[in-house]
Amino acid sequence: MTIRPILVAPDPRLKAVAKDVAKVDGEIRTLIDDMLETMYDADGIGLAAVQIGIAQRVIVMDIDQKDGKNNPRVFVNPKIVWASEALATFEEGCLSVPEIWEDVERPARIRAEYLGRDGKQQTLEADGLLADCLQHEMDHLNGILFIDHLSRLKRSIALRKLAKAKRLKETG
Ligand code: ZN
Repeated sequence: MTIRPILVAPDPRLKAVAKDVAKVDGEIRTLIDDMLETMYDADGIGLAAVQIGIAQRVIVMDIDQKDGKNNPRVFVNPKIVWASEALATFEEGCLSVPEIWEDVERPARIRAEYLGRDGKQQTLEADGLLADCLQHEMDHLNGILFIDHLSRLKRSIALRKLAKAKRLKETG
């Protein structure tokens, strides 16, 4: 397994619209393993392939790591087939938008279809953090970042913070 570099906004590759995976084969499973390794290394709870520069519809997630035990989830070609009218607000962050946390409102409950690591079709009904996280990661597959959901003012403040943090990192 390999830890891959995570792209940071405003990298134009984060705007890519990812393509459906044609077949869950060995190459895709290697990608999945690398993504999990990369996500755990960065202390994230979710990662989309787009964030490591691969425009394929693959997501990994682990929202309930406990006592050093992992509970990895894999979503290939996920689709939301139903979303509740009721909304829920979560404070979101993103490995590609470091050090910025903002409230985002999304449907509270969703039903999704996707392929698992074994290539088999799965259905999931989710609410809470799982629903929020899946929608956040699915946005990445369409080139959308959580800060794109913010008001124009909040978004420009976030982008300025991000640019400043990047400059500080570059100059050491
Ligand atoms: Zn993200």
